[in-house]
Amino acid sequence: MERFNGYEKSLNDFSDEILVVCNSCNEKAILKKIDKCFKITCLKCGYNKMYSNSLNNPVHKLWLRIELNDGELWAYNLEHLEFLKNHISAGLRERTLENISNKSIGSRLPKWMTSKKNRVDVLKAIEKLKHK
Ligand SMILES: [Zn+2]
Repeated sequence: MERFNGYEKSLNDFSDEILVVCNSCNEKAILKKIDKCFKITCLKCGYNKMYSNSLNNPVHKLWLRIELNDGELWAYNLEHLEFLKNHISAGLRERTLENISNKSIGSRLPKWMTSKKNRVDVLKAIEKLKHK
């Protein structure tokens, strides 16, 4: 599925538990990392399955995703969403970015997401996703 590995390796920090769309009922399901496998569990319909795929080879759509004018915003889970929110809110203090290491998610965010003109819309979208 597209975009799953778009923000690169440091996403591993957030990938232990990923909110995805259930294959069976299209509701919110949880993809959990168990050793080298992933297990998807849907609380709605009870669908569950084990995968040996890595994240580079995903079979699920992310639950937390939303289209904006300049691109798609997505997150693995609420913790990740919160991280994005904090990062984007902090964007005003541009120089704090220098303190973030290169491999951080922040430095890999698409430019439109952190640009001043989009900030309000992006934060609104994040808020919307939080309640999805
Ligand atoms: Zn389901």
